[in-house]
Amino acid sequence: MSDPVVIPVPPEWAARAYVDDVKYKAMHASALADPEAFWGVQGQRLDWIKPYTKVKDTSFNEADFHIRWYEDGALNVSANCIDRHLETRGDSVAIIWEGDDPNNSSQITYRELHAEVCRFANVLKKRGVGKGDRVTIYMPMIPEAAYAMLACTRIGAIHSVVFGGFSPESLANRIKDCDSKTVITADEGVRGGKIIPLKANVDAALEHASGVTSVIVVTRTGAGVSMQDGRDVVYEDEAATVSAECAPEPMSAEDPLFILYTSGSTGKPKGVLHTTGGYLVYAAMTHQYIFDYKDGEIFWCTADVGWVTGHTYIVYGPLANGATTLMFEGVPNYPTVSRFWEVIDKHKVNTFYTAPTAIRALMRDGEEPVKRTSRASLRLIGTVGEPINPEAWLWYYRTVGDSRCPVVDTWWQTETGASLIGNLPGATAMKPGSATRPFFGIKPALVDDKGEFLDGAASGNLVLLDSWPGQMRTVYGDHKRFFETYFRTYPGMYFTGDGCRRDEDGYYWITGRVDDVLNVSGHRIGTAEIESALVADTKVAEAAVVGYPHDIKGQGIYCYVTLKAGVTPSDDLKRELIQTVRREIGPTASPDIIQWAPGLPKTRSGKIMRRILRKIAENDVSNLGDTSTLADPSVVDDLVANRAGA
Ligand code: ATP
Ligand code: MG
Repeated sequence: MSDPVVIPVPPEWAARAYVDDVKYKAMHASALADPEAFWGVQGQRLDWIKPYTKVKDTSFNEADFHIRWYEDGALNVSANCIDRHLETRGDSVAIIWEGDDPNNSSQITYRELHAEVCRFANVLKKRGVGKGDRVTIYMPMIPEAAYAMLACTRIGAIHSVVFGGFSPESLANRIKDCDSKTVITADEGVRGGKIIPLKANVDAALEHASGVTSVIVVTRTGAGVSMQDGRDVVYEDEAATVSAECAPEPMSAEDPLFILYTSGSTGKPKGVLHTTGGYLVYAAMTHQYIFDYKDGEIFWCTADVGWVTGHTYIVYGPLANGATTLMFEGVPNYPTVSRFWEVIDKHKVNTFYTAPTAIRALMRDGEEPVKRTSRASLRLIGTVGEPINPEAWLWYYRTVGDSRCPVVDTWWQTETGASLIGNLPGATAMKPGSATRPFFGIKPALVDDKGEFLDGAASGNLVLLDSWPGQMRTVYGDHKRFFETYFRTYPGMYFTGDGCRRDEDGYYWITGRVDDVLNVSGHRIGTAEIESALVADTKVAEAAVVGYPHDIKGQGIYCYVTLKAGVTPSDDLKRELIQTVRREIGPTASPDIIQWAPGLPKTRSGKIMRRILRKIAENDVSNLGDTSTLADPSVVDDLVANRAGA
């Protein structure tokens, strides 16, 4: 493989960041040497109603499997995210809301946030919601979505946020899975100039989820929606009748905080449960160090609150740190493909955090839509969600960040609560495409299929050897599935499901899901590496690679390639791409089949669903599995109709 680029830490960053390389190594070593002491100190970043005396009590072994952090402490999440900031920054902006329409934005101070969240909490109480009750939140990206989440935490209810783009069927499944009796929604959502009939979707969902007795409808567009007597109420009507004060409920550190379903890239979504104390400590700490967050900065994570990225880095991490967090209702290409950059200039955003899928999509439109904006306020940019191919990383760094802002690549999962592997901007030299090094106290390792440790530079299955405070505690309602999914494969270790390579500098490179790793003539090849080689060609916008049964090689390499706008597909181009892959990786990685793909099947969070592409490559199209999390099912029909050999 061609040598990766290394971009050193800018000297001014090493000087001004919380940690430089020396400090990173010292803190990481001390966290590994004495986790009790390290995390005991970190827990102090929160306000505790009852201080903890125990810090860590965890075992990944089947015989005494348990995960508990700060277990005898008590605290309240909303008090940590709001009340404790009132004295020093009550009039500072907590949330900047940027509407779908560029003329529509607002600012909410911490004091206003306090009143809004208390009101919402009192409405929930009035509707009979109490500690431990599950509340499903199905909302557009408006401040009320954050109010609703924080209101649940204020009274000890467990929220389950379902992305507002999901269908009634997906919503019904998630309501039933956690048996929630209360749904919070809006009349309609607005995204990219289009209306999303949220309340109508809820009505349709509830035909299949009959346990719901209360629906609270926030007004977003004011469109008339049907309301069922006794079950449905208009939020604003209720809010007018309650007080703007609500005492925070003391919660035990291990009380459930929220349930969140995984993206469904690899199968049926799992109801991941996070708890109160450890999650918030870890969310706040990673937000501070990875983004090198400093007081007064404006932080923008473009995720939807329906994903864990939105939970941790729009709501809980930034607010626990007293930051100003930006919430964006719209999409990257509305009204123009410059929208992200225009929002950065409008609100003087300092840190911008998005996903590779968005970066690759915006790359297709070239530099001009970016370069016509200033982006002078930016100091740091980040990525999460999928392996980012070096080509897209470099474009992001040079074009968006003007080769001035470090890029932080953060590897994590719904299950991990917050980032586990990622560079610290003042400490870690960057290698485009690598998530680099573990966060403080995180113990990644690589094992082979038998569970034997692989040392030094190696490729294998990524596992974690010890717990961290933000780790999920169970699959809701199915503790057995929790153990079986993550701890059965390699006894005593948490198995991530991801394949990974570690280089000579100890940097981690996620190579894709282990289910996607190819075995071609006895060589193990990660899908991410072949995809990166394809995307390195300037004519290619996006690529997805899967294996299919091959008589001679065991597995053949099947590539779905999306070309940039205006590029004509041809057999010559196919030959050129095959040559590129052979040159970049080697002849073993040579693609057997290339299929032109106008679009790729993606989850609603923008991740490529390779398991569906594998079925198409294997010509097993009657058996595509759970497709309810697909963003655009019609993409699949096209790929099936035009499959190579069809
Ligand atoms: P499901 O578990 O239902 O199949 P999912 O794994 O896509 O869905 P998430 O928890 O949203 O659900 O995604 C976590 C996964 O995303 C990781 O396991 C990894 O494969 C990928 N990922 C996230 N961030 C990165 C990153 N920075 N680099 C590489 N891969 C990443
Ligand atoms: Mg997963």
